[in-house]
Amino acid sequence: MRQLLTLQATRPKAGPRRGSDLKELGIVEDGAVLCLGGKIVSVGTTKDALRDPWLKKHRKSVREIDCAGKIVLPGFVDSHTHPVFVSPRLVDFEKRIEGASYTEIAAAGGGIRSSLEAVRNASKSALAAKVLAVLTEMAAHGTTTAEAKSGYGLTLESELKSLEAIREAASQWPGTVIPTLLGAHVVPKEFQGCSQKYVEIVCTEMIPQAAKRKLAQFVDVFCDQGAFTSNETEQIFEAAEVHGFKVRAHMGQLSEAVLQPFLRFHPASFDHMDHVNADDIAQLAKQDTVATLVPGANYFLGLKEYPNARRLIDGGVPVALATDYNPGTSPTISMPTAMSLACTHMKMSPAEAVAAATINGAWSLRVADRKGSIEPGKDADLAMFDVKDYREIPYWFGANHCAMTVLNGIVSSRV
Ligand SMILES: [Zn+2]
Repeated sequence: MRQLLTLQATRPKAGPRRGSDLKELGIVEDGAVLCLGGKIVSVGTTKDALRDPWLKKHRKSVREIDCAGKIVLPGFVDSHTHPVFVSPRLVDFEKRIEGASYTEIAAAGGGIRSSLEAVRNASKSALAAKVLAVLTEMAAHGTTTAEAKSGYGLTLESELKSLEAIREAASQWPGTVIPTLLGAHVVPKEFQGCSQKYVEIVCTEMIPQAAKRKLAQFVDVFCDQGAFTSNETEQIFEAAEVHGFKVRAHMGQLSEAVLQPFLRFHPASFDHMDHVNADDIAQLAKQDTVATLVPGANYFLGLKEYPNARRLIDGGVPVALATDYNPGTSPTISMPTAMSLACTHMKMSPAEAVAAATINGAWSLRVADRKGSIEPGKDADLAMFDVKDYREIPYWFGANHCAMTVLNGIVSSRV
């Protein structure tokens, strides 16, 4: 292959990539990767691979994939998605174009409530089929690991049903799915004015039940104006911790939150981060909490402002990129699109965008020991792009040049 982007560790005991390490892609020219039983066993030049004694002996039984003239990189790790919904929100789309406010959109039958009703009424298998179709589409665009949140049911029953749908879809997809309970997405209509009652349901019913049935690895909270307060978020994180969940949160999308009180929970990720203060940047530079940026949401909402990636990266905060796939604010499954927006609107270099979409996404899901780079011992998750230079991935925006993905050793080809 022309370029093999290994993303191999730049130093022995590496945490998530920060600062100038974010652009170290570990490129091997004319590279080759040997995979066995779903794992990567060796990485190097094609010349070295052909000299390998094991390969020489077993060459006939090995499936060779010719990547000549193409580039290969770790499969993308999309660390923030909301795939469990039924229909696109076309009313929101059209009304927003006409300049309608959030309240006007809700009054016209749009907004998050329209997604809730459909998910509550849907069967588990119908939801699973939706999720599986999305995962398949993601793989066709180079994603091999995806986080998947519940959060469009917001009752005990429909949140558990959503997580079960994720599990069912994941069992039929060769890639890796990391499920997240997002019972605290918004306060549903029936609890408006008494959000504390809803928080109690999240803490005493949803979290314990999801733990008991091993349906999620993370608990997420949308902590912002119009969603959940900092106190409520701490309360939910406490319940999550008691039940053995790791935590992550939507933070700073609409307004600035003070992040300090949450750091004792060692969140794997704070997502969005459009608004963040200098003290918190200094704190995050010392932590392994990743700032997951989702520029697809800013784009689709037609916002002029994007998260200040440069300030975060130059301040030493580890940054990841994700799609935020969801029906209201970011209906895209394309990691290359998120990367393109990161380059054009957040001034990240193509190299930084690649690392943020692979190894740092893996860190944000706490699976960096097996995902996010092409190194011996890691899972065989690869994406092959039919381009000559990795910078073409964010460059050709809106087109899909992913020719093939390998998901835990299973080849999925577009043609
Ligand atoms: Zn989200």
